[in-house]
Amino acid sequence: MSKRDYYEVLGVSKGTDAKDIKKAYRRVAMKYHPDRNPDDPKAEEKFKEASEAYEILSDGEKRQAYDQYGHAGVDPSRGGGAGGFGGGSFSDIFGDVFGDIFGGGGGRGGPQRGSDLRYTMDISLEDAVKGSTRKIRVPTLVSCGECDGSGARKGSSPVTCGTCGGVGQVRMQQGLFHVQQTCPACRGKGKSISDPCGKCHGQGRTEETKTLSVKVPPGVDTGDRIRLSGEGEAGPEGGPAGDLFVQMSVKDHPIFERDGKHLYCEIPITFADAALGGEMEVPTLDGRVKLKVPAETQTGKLFRLRGKGVKPVRGGSVGDLLCRAVVETPINLNKQQKELLRELQGTLTEGGKAQSPRQTTWFEGVKSFFDDMKI
Ligand SMILES: [Zn+2]
Ligand SMILES: [Zn+2]
Repeated sequence: MSKRDYYEVLGVSKGTDAKDIKKAYRRVAMKYHPDRNPDDPKAEEKFKEASEAYEILSDGEKRQAYDQYGHAGVDPSRGGGAGGFGGGSFSDIFGDVFGDIFGGGGGRGGPQRGSDLRYTMDISLEDAVKGSTRKIRVPTLVSCGECDGSGARKGSSPVTCGTCGGVGQVRMQQGLFHVQQTCPACRGKGKSISDPCGKCHGQGRTEETKTLSVKVPPGVDTGDRIRLSGEGEAGPEGGPAGDLFVQMSVKDHPIFERDGKHLYCEIPITFADAALGGEMEVPTLDGRVKLKVPAETQTGKLFRLRGKGVKPVRGGSVGDLLCRAVVETPINLNKQQKELLRELQGTLTEGGKAQSPRQTTWFEGVKSFFDDMKI
């Protein structure tokens, strides 16, 4: 039995570089892959032939021997027996070339687990702090209802794999090697589908947008993940489902800013209230509360409302709400108001440090700065 030239098998010329040889093998192997040509012995033969050619031509040493001596150079019946070349087994090549197509390479055996899914949930600060139940719609792969995930047409069932006879392993001639490998046709399951389900085309799963109810516990923050076990993609051909991870993204709030378990807000205070003291309503996530503003309140003063922050989702004490005072300068003053203010200011200038402590301190600082600079 004469063997075909390895370059001819892959449809490349003799000088082709390693990268293009890999590309060529991929093309040929994809075409004749047993998954795409179930129960086609001719395709299977071509697939094996391409695999063998690739094994030799992808290995520098073997390729050199083949270039020099032809099939005799790499024929196990000649030369000093097997083992001389070492190098990659079939599964190495298979995994390398097909890993990204068939998800994880050849021959793991048994049904594969479905992929995990990630979903980002935008959530209001109120819902994040108090917890809520939200419905989400997630496009995913679900177990096919027509065939119950088996991939075989209703009434039929998967049959013993013709390539491996149900063993899940095949013996393959690979250049110098005679190796036991996971069956490429059934990928180790020992069964194949001769009459695929019409709805899922033998995949055992179909695309669907699932509506799920997600219970968001109180206290979650941006970046927290909620795991919904078994709500990821269904596994192919009846494999177990992956998980769904719902990632929290807390939206900005018009009033409150959050830093861990504490909340922050600004409260504008009128000039008169700041000076004389007063009472004002401030918002919290539980509703309004009255805040006593003491006399002589300056911008930047923090009022701490204990326990009005967030109860952390992982436990611990409830945070606080910190309100930052911002004394507001009145605008749109009429003539009379302006006069009153000037009149008031006129009485204040005499006061110096006792009545304008910040400005006095500031002037002193500026003066010593210029003194040091000798300006
Ligand atoms: Zn189906
Ligand atoms: Zn098989």
